[in-house]
Amino acid sequence: MYTSSQVDQYGMSSVSPERPCAAWTGRDLFRGQVWPSLTVILRTGGCAWSRCLMCSYRHERYRSGSPEDLIRGIKAQVSWVSERFPPGTYDLVKIYTSGSLFDRNEVPKEALASVAGLCSGKMVVAETRPEYVVRESLEEFTSLIDEGKWKSPLSVAIGLETSDDSIREKSIRKGFSFDQYLTAVKEARSAGAGVKTYLLLKPLFLTENEAIEDMQSSIAACAAYSDVISMNPCTVQRGTEMERYWRYGAYRPPYLWSVLSVLLSAGTHILCDPVGGGYERGPHNCGKCDREILSAIRSYATTGDRELLRAVDETECRCRGEWEYVLAEEMPFCMPLTR
Ligand code: SF4
Ligand SMILES: [Zn+2]
Repeated sequence: MYTSSQVDQYGMSSVSPERPCAAWTGRDLFRGQVWPSLTVILRTGGCAWSRCLMCSYRHERYRSGSPEDLIRGIKAQVSWVSERFPPGTYDLVKIYTSGSLFDRNEVPKEALASVAGLCSGKMVVAETRPEYVVRESLEEFTSLIDEGKWKSPLSVAIGLETSDDSIREKSIRKGFSFDQYLTAVKEARSAGAGVKTYLLLKPLFLTENEAIEDMQSSIAACAAYSDVISMNPCTVQRGTEMERYWRYGAYRPPYLWSVLSVLLSAGTHILCDPVGGGYERGPHNCGKCDREILSAIRSYATTGDRELLRAVDETECRCRGEWEYVLAEEMPFCMPLTR
């Protein structure tokens, strides 16, 4: 899942229908190496599900027009990107669409072929819901991007969020089950594709402690199925259900201490870029220690060096006691069992 803050950070966000929502180059750790990367957030027909409680990306879509207009719009975005980012300057392309790249209604076949043209000869990570991970579609896309340079050029990125079906249903409203995720993993593997799994730290209605436990068990549950796990500490996005609860004082984004604690306790290297970190809508501590911790977490994402995390985890700050108090005393969110 990408985030608006990332978009702001790179200063290339756009509302023009002929330009992607955002596009930037950077460096990403992928398959044990750091690669020059291109990230593109395409405006498409939009997410067909469009119901998750914390998501505002679903609003970034073409609102009207025919399927032909949609194809024309996506092709124009691809041309805009290829004119500005020479193909020789990156090896990895990450494609986000505010939904699913492999949903044919959201990205029609002709438009998908033009996206594939942009990615030809590259390693590609493409975000999609599990119901669109179908062997034939992935094989078709792979045949368009594959120039024989990489063993497995395509990876699908799936926003599983948590391995717990009831948390996914009640706290996120994601609309699919862990079993569906497993089926998608199987399909992806049968097409020779890799799997990146996104997990969400602290969706609605969980205490800080429950959120940490949920993340730890989710990492353990999906590690065997994922080449890469990326943890997104929750950010309060505008116009969402989550924002409503946050305004009532019924939600607080996770502490950065929680993010550190998960990264340090995980048996594997977890990617994490705490978007909106240090701000009240994003994962934050007291304001004094945030910057140093965020910088360690971001460096860890590309180096995998746990010493960076340990060093900031041992930093003294008064908010650490506050966090420990929250872990010990926060009461679970009570929903009535009956109506
Ligand atoms: S599936 Fe993804 S894009 Fe669609 S509403 Fe949920 S989080 Fe947003
Ligand atoms: Zn602090």
